Amino acid sequence: MDSKEKGLLVVVSGPSGAGKGTVCEELKKLIDIKVSVSATTREPRPGEVDGVNYHFKTHEQFRRMVENSEFLEYAEVFTQYYGTPRDAVMRQLDAGNDVLLEIDIQGALMEKKHYEEGVFIFILPPSMAELRARLSGRGTETAEMLERRFKGAFEELYFTNKYNYVVINDEVEVAARKMQCIIEAEKCAVERNKTLHAELLKEVDEL
Ligand code: 5GP
Repeated sequence: MDSKEKGLLVVVSGPSGAGKGTVCEELKKLIDIKVSVSATTREPRPGEVDGVNYHFKTHEQFRRMVENSEFLEYAEVFTQYYGTPRDAVMRQLDAGNDVLLEIDIQGALMEKKHYEEGVFIFILPPSMAELRARLSGRGTETAEMLERRFKGAFEELYFTNKYNYVVINDEVEVAARKMQCIIEAEKCAVERNKTLHAELLKEVDEL
């Protein structure tokens, strides 16, 4: 019986410092989900590997990819460009694999317009004080960058209601477990099990 439904597209955003990267890392330990590798014009940080963390591109290369409609969505974040390669994601979804996109809010909203059947999850910090502490603790940014990110985080909170789910990242393991539950429940939605349902009905006819 070939009852393979299309995979689930899970889109995760949240203010920087909410810890969405850490929660997504934890989630990957719990479930089998493919993580989309984005393209970006920003410089690699120490330890980041091309093709693993990001596909690092020049502005010119990125612009050409935009022109060739190679992105599902893309956005300018903190003066750099980020985009989700269309082919890689669609191939995985068509093969029935679930795909995780960890992207900014502008990109997620763009994606929601084109791909409504995705599941959109917003990660929140337990408090703004905690968010500031997490941002400062990173130590990878200048004071000016930090202040910009913090201000940006405030503004981003207003977009929460555009998402389907909200997960508070107080404890990483708990937040990841909640995301696992959301994904499992979504995969049980009647709407997402039409192939299986049709095949069962066909079997009944053949009895
Ligand atoms: P960072 O430079 O810290 O890795 O990422 C900065 C922001 O860009 C994060 O909010 C991250 O989620 C977002 N981002 C990463 N990849 C993509 C992408 O493909 N599309 C969009 N729209 N945002 C992305």
